[in-house]
Amino acid sequence: MALARVDLDGNPIKPMTICMIGAGGFIGSHLCEKLMAETPHKVLALDVYNDKIKHLLEPAGSHPWFDRIQFHRLNIKNDSRLEGLIKMADLTINLAAICTPADYNTRPLDTIYSNFIDALPVVKYCSENGKRLIHFSTCEVYGKTIGSFLPKDSPLRQDPEYYVLKEDASPCIFGSIEKQRWSYACAKQLIERLIYAEGAENGLDFTIVRPFNWIGPRMDFIPGIDGPSEGVPRVLACFSNNLLRHEPLKLVDGGQSQRTFIYIKDAIEAVLLMIENPARANSQIFNVGNPNNEVTVRQLAEMMIEVYSKVSGEPSLEAPTVDVSSQEFYGVGYDDSDKRIPDMTIINRQLGWNPKTSLWDLLESTLTYQHRTYAEAVKQATAKPAAN
Ligand code: NAD
Ligand code: UDP
Repeated sequence: MALARVDLDGNPIKPMTICMIGAGGFIGSHLCEKLMAETPHKVLALDVYNDKIKHLLEPAGSHPWFDRIQFHRLNIKNDSRLEGLIKMADLTINLAAICTPADYNTRPLDTIYSNFIDALPVVKYCSENGKRLIHFSTCEVYGKTIGSFLPKDSPLRQDPEYYVLKEDASPCIFGSIEKQRWSYACAKQLIERLIYAEGAENGLDFTIVRPFNWIGPRMDFIPGIDGPSEGVPRVLACFSNNLLRHEPLKLVDGGQSQRTFIYIKDAIEAVLLMIENPARANSQIFNVGNPNNEVTVRQLAEMMIEVYSKVSGEPSLEAPTVDVSSQEFYGVGYDDSDKRIPDMTIINRQLGWNPKTSLWDLLESTLTYQHRTYAEAVKQATAKPAAN
């Protein structure tokens, strides 16, 4: 007989029903996979799309978990089934959002509605029905680092006090209103404050997650293959697209911004700990990232070029990168986070969690996936029609 699953305090974990909103997205698909393969929990998977979880939803009987996952195609903006589904579950996880930077300055209204207004009923139904909520926010709520305002040659820029981002101490620093890039961060910040206030005034059991650039297979789309040709996904998919098409990788404003990238599978381990350890996760805001994987965007491009050449067996271009201005790439109102290093004290203390995978290793498995999934389709899409 299989050993009973226990939480971090040695107590048995009871099977639960999870209402997962945005389950058909990048993070949702990995979380559903993990919950199906390794736990007894049930998932009510809500989304407008289900392409990324189709493999989990095969006809009844073909997977051991066939009766533990149920897909509900709905848009939370306007569907009266939402409250009923939240009531049926023990826990709601809200992942639904517009969360690609190319949208923040070009579709600021949709961005604000999606990240704030549309999340309101979810918070309200959880609070009114006494249901626990894990809400996905973003590391972008920190905005720019304090250090970025210091003179370029200031030695204080090297002091972690001026750039490491701490859940309970760092301020949220956004640009001016016409820099519409910050519409997303500001909406996410306000929904965090609302959830926190529901906890403080009405006793809502909540956990807020701030992902720091989670990347891996199934992230976003490859323009013209499984997404719009003019669409601009997040950097992993942009650079993958360039590599698949043998085009130079575009470095926005010189690729000087810094990011820490974490492998999606490491991050999902942290989410599972939150799900199964409510006593340790409730009322907490958690950074989830890998502080050891920091690179500039230019360094990320260089590493992806090297890894892709290794996994595809194709030589890299002679001029593999090209500089573009942010105005040209994203349009008016773009701005950038300069540097994002997560402080790990709280998640370490509460959940004993640490990321494991190096940037090289996570790029190797992710780009192997990208090459296997898309290389042939890109080749066909770009092949010249045969002459008559
Ligand atoms: P994603 O775009 O792949 O997934 C979001 C899913 O939500 C999509 O499948 C989308 O169809 C669905 N959705 C959006 N609006 C909906 C609506 N009105 N009704 C029903 N479904 C709707 O994005 P992701 O990377 O999986 O991100 C999930 C969450 O994590 C988001 O809230 C995002 O802001 C946050 N986040 C992610 C990262 C990251 O590194 N991936 C970083 C910061 C924050
Ligand atoms: N970026 C880039 N080239 C691209 C796409 C993105 O240089 O083709 C940069 C972008 O300007 C930002 C970083 O890569 O500095 C990360 O962008 P992403 O879209 O992943 O989201 P962010 O981390 O800003 O939320």
